[in-house]
Amino acid sequence: MSDDLHLLTAEDGLPVSETNIGACGDVLLICEHASRRLPERLGSLGLDAEALEAHIAWDPGALGVALQMSKTLDAGLIYQNFSRLAYDCNRPPEAADAMPARSEIYEIPGNANLPEADRLARTEAIYIPFRDAVSRRIAERKAQGRDTVLVTIHSFTPVYNGAQRDVEVGILHDADSRLADQMLAFAEKARRYRVRRNEPYGPADGVTHTLKLHGLANGLMNVMIEVRNDLIRDEAGQEVMAGFLAGLIRESLSIPA
Ligand SMILES: [Zn+2]
Repeated sequence: MSDDLHLLTAEDGLPVSETNIGACGDVLLICEHASRRLPERLGSLGLDAEALEAHIAWDPGALGVALQMSKTLDAGLIYQNFSRLAYDCNRPPEAADAMPARSEIYEIPGNANLPEADRLARTEAIYIPFRDAVSRRIAERKAQGRDTVLVTIHSFTPVYNGAQRDVEVGILHDADSRLADQMLAFAEKARRYRVRRNEPYGPADGVTHTLKLHGLANGLMNVMIEVRNDLIRDEAGQEVMAGFLAGLIRESLSIPA
């Protein structure tokens, strides 16, 4: 497909979804790793079924949590409809791991030595529409005189490179830690989960692309939330976690329940 810039077929549908976008709350939720689906033309990227369902392909449970939070916080939600193995929407096009050839213990044959034309095709089909959808909503809200607080929802695997992770919830930030500081202070009071600052990842790992591009650049309060995925395997778990996180955000922003 090197000679074809049109990656997505009619069957694939759109790369980005928006829900509850007319909501009145200040929070705008983003879920860049919501889906593990691959565009038809990419096939399986040379991976077996187990790898295609694993955390390398998506953030299991993250969309469920984000959807719940969207209701609880009366917040709009923008999410990605394709696997981060096709294009990781939390990475700029120039980042090697925007289309990773290796992720944790998995080699991704379909991403190895990817020709520039293929990188460009994926960038244009998946990343640009996603980036633009977020920019558009933020600009629209600004034009309406509305505040926007940017909150991105992710999940991480309990075992990484063979090591068990004991952190349960990560509150991540880049240069602007206003919201993260508040949330961490309330989380410490609540004593409900092991909540840590910039764990299991932080800005040095290149994970704050969305925060920088849409949050910092626009002067918006922002935070990235990482939840250990064994806590949000089913709807019940997702509801409990969404309630906890929405509570932290409400307290931090002094939003009445
Ligand atoms: Zn993620």
